[in-house]
Amino acid sequence: MNLLDGKQTSIAIKERIANEVRGYTAKGLRPPHLAAILVGDDGASQTYVANKEKSSHEVGFTSSVYRYSANTSEEELLKAISFLNEDDDIDGFIVQLPLPKQINEQRVINSISPEKDVDGFTPINIGRMVLGEDAFIPATPMGICSLLEHYNIETEGKHCVVLGRSNIVGTPVANLLSRNRKGANCTVTLCHSRTKNLAEITRQADILVVAIGKPEFVTAEMVKEGAVLVDVGIHRVPDETKKSGYRIIGDVKHSEVDAKCEWATPVPGGVGPLTIVSLLQNTLKSYRRRFGL
Ligand code: NAP
Repeated sequence: MNLLDGKQTSIAIKERIANEVRGYTAKGLRPPHLAAILVGDDGASQTYVANKEKSSHEVGFTSSVYRYSANTSEEELLKAISFLNEDDDIDGFIVQLPLPKQINEQRVINSISPEKDVDGFTPINIGRMVLGEDAFIPATPMGICSLLEHYNIETEGKHCVVLGRSNIVGTPVANLLSRNRKGANCTVTLCHSRTKNLAEITRQADILVVAIGKPEFVTAEMVKEGAVLVDVGIHRVPDETKKSGYRIIGDVKHSEVDAKCEWATPVPGGVGPLTIVSLLQNTLKSYRRRFGL
């Protein structure tokens, strides 16, 4: 099995971003600015936002985090978003999901300016993506495509099975990999909780993308010999041997599946780092647009 190493790939892409940013700041331009809104004190969300901040600094971006308490109202959050939409010093921002129960997530997403929606979650960006127009592509699906491209994985004419149809991962990645373009042109089957004979379908996959949100769900008998495996899942499980008290596992049982694969992402260190890098790439794209670069 060969590793689809998200960490190494992300370092290579971050170096390219940092170089470009250095060029702009050397000319006297301000650096790109990525902001995040974090509501509540969910541990995983705090970690994600901290990682985004760290990566922003690594490539020379300005980074800000706007923190709100778990009992923030939807109205307050919409006001904060409207402020960021108008702030000329911010090139892009994200609202870290999930949001507390009292807040309607879709209403919040819809209020983000499509021009600053570097997560690519607004209907306008999703519509543009589906039409093949210039768009901010959702970060995780974009990261999956970058990873496959980085390792020159042949996608053309391959059968790609996507497990999971969420708006942020499964549905957009299925769309992107089926498009008529380099690094795509797959024949895509999109599976979900109502799919019958799931293992029969996943066994046909040349490329299997798993975003099901169930720890170690995919086992060896569900995977074809020589497949390319992308595990998007992230789960914290208690582990007393770790200083943190937990370890991260994916949606795939790697201990038995990896040996069958030609290529596979590790968890952690696979898709996760590329998701953050895609966010940086989208922010840089917004910055270039705003400065006409
Ligand atoms: P999600 O919104 O929970 O969607 C899960 C999908 O899996 C749904 O489409 C669901 O089908 C399907 N599903 C659930 N149980 C199934 C079953 N038994 N058989 C077949 N399909 C089943 O998940 P998500 O937001 O896409 O996230 C998926 C995983 O990726 C999670 O572990 C998440 O933490 C991780 N993630 C990682 C990153 C990263 O950067 N690495 C980013 C985002 C998410 P229905 O539609 O029928 O309910």
